[in-house]
Amino acid sequence: MATSKPQVSPELSKHYSARMVAVFRYGSLAIAGIGFIQAVIFAALGSWVVVAMELSAFVGGLAIYFLIRRGHLAFGILAGQAALMAIAITMGLILDVPTADAPRISHLYLLVLAALGYLNYQRGKSRAQLVLIGLCLLAFIVLASAPLTSPFVVLPDMARTIGTWANAVMATTLLAVCIHAMQAEFNRKDKFSRDLMTALWNDEFQLAYQPQVDLSQNTIGAEALLRWNSPKRGAVSPVEFIPQAEELGLMVAIGGWVLEQGCRTLAEWSKNPLFRHLSLSINVSASQLMHRDFEAFVRDTLVKTRANPHRLILELTESVLVTDIDLVIAKLDGLRELGITIALDDFGTGYSSLSYLRRLPIQQVKIDRSFVQDAVNSSVSASLVKNVVLMSRDLGHTVLAEGVETIEQHALLARFGCIEFQGYFYGKPMALADFEQRIEARIKRLA
Ligand code: C2E
Ligand code: CA
Ligand code: CA
Repeated sequence: MATSKPQVSPELSKHYSARMVAVFRYGSLAIAGIGFIQAVIFAALGSWVVVAMELSAFVGGLAIYFLIRRGHLAFGILAGQAALMAIAITMGLILDVPTADAPRISHLYLLVLAALGYLNYQRGKSRAQLVLIGLCLLAFIVLASAPLTSPFVVLPDMARTIGTWANAVMATTLLAVCIHAMQAEFNRKDKFSRDLMTALWNDEFQLAYQPQVDLSQNTIGAEALLRWNSPKRGAVSPVEFIPQAEELGLMVAIGGWVLEQGCRTLAEWSKNPLFRHLSLSINVSASQLMHRDFEAFVRDTLVKTRANPHRLILELTESVLVTDIDLVIAKLDGLRELGITIALDDFGTGYSSLSYLRRLPIQQVKIDRSFVQDAVNSSVSASLVKNVVLMSRDLGHTVLAEGVETIEQHALLARFGCIEFQGYFYGKPMALADFEQRIEARIKRLA
């Protein structure tokens, strides 16, 4: 993979660039450093209340640095902002009150915090982040406008005057850095978005085909998995680019390409007696499904390519369930009327509740790799998988076990009642020609 990876969990790397993580990480170290230096200065001046505050900034900065290092970036950022906001407000209210010689200055940091919050909000939209931005701005307005005085005049005038200049320079510099980071972030998104669109026009996408097998390990179909071979970025994993494409609103176009390509393959297979029986599973993202014209697009693609809808399986993840469930059901009913099979992908990893399993018009449940792999090691996971299989079968769904890597996993899942399987044990995702050759070779061997 040619793209650089930040040293945080893969989950986070989807949303935060390496540069962004570095900004937050070293920013928190800088806060700790400034807190420490100021603590030493004020200790020399004997202002122990200020020393205590600076030390809390030092400890807070370090805590956030380690939170981010351990992968808790989103929480670390919010916690950091909240702590810094509390420090800035306390400083502004108690110690840094305006006098004839020195204006109030610490409230400038609240603008920096609001800008940082906005930057973070662009990455991961959350209500907590919006509230924090609002509080920072509100506190800024109050501290900038209200003639608040304090009974604690603990700082000598000289320290106040030097501090005013130093803090004004620091806050302005940080604000400028935030604005630069915001600009860089918008540019990065824009560039990624353009690269993805170009990829679509330049045929940089391909489909890989991973075999799906029955109990006797005969290939009964394949899952089409998207691959992006970018001349600039190298082979980019779908785990990395699909969430970003989704965020940029490009998954409808890219997913449309996948569906059309997959249907062309199905149409070709229907002409060949060796491949006629094969089904093809295609992943559909939530934004694609919820698009107003999705059902019409699928119908038109089937007509255009002459693919057999009875061999087409559309895989949906549980992420579609957070949206309007009745609308999802209506859409799935429409697709079923075309003869298409609907599968629930990654079952057990998301929002799935058993009631959804009952309500949704699905015919196949794909048990997630994590369950399959845990089932051989833990009796709790094993009984969970067993019950999911039993329940799905009671509801009339077929159950496909995903991510099977060993014969032990295959045997256990077959014993639990799985009748379809997919995983490295049977075959990794491969080019179409290799997939077809594999089937031809098996048939020749049997003949
Ligand atoms: P998924 O739909 O759960 O696809 C299965 C993923 O697990 C694939 O990763 C596959 O290579 C991998 N896998 C299969 N068998 C094994 C195994 O035995 N062990 C292990 N460790 N991994 C196995 P891949 O190709 O990187 O795709 C990742 C995800 O990207 C997919 O997960 C799917 O959510 C998404 N994706 C891929 N193609 C498309 C697409 O065309 N449209 C949409 N919307 N999403 C796609
Ligand atoms: Ca899938
Ligand atoms: Ca899956």
